[in-house]
Amino acid sequence: MECTKCKVMIPDGEERTHKKELLCEDCYIDVLSPANFRPVRVGLRCQFEI
Ligand SMILES: [Zn+2]
Repeated sequence: MECTKCKVMIPDGEERTHKKELLCEDCYIDVLSPANFRPVRVGLRCQFEI
């Protein structure tokens, strides 16, 4: 399974669907989250990657 948004490979059972799009959990949270929550989440992800 491949996320239609970020093209990441999604493990079996972890895929989410939203408006008939197949999404990974990260993208699924993104589409469901209010827009003002997104910068906070991206900031956290950047910190983890460093
Ligand atoms: Zn994704």
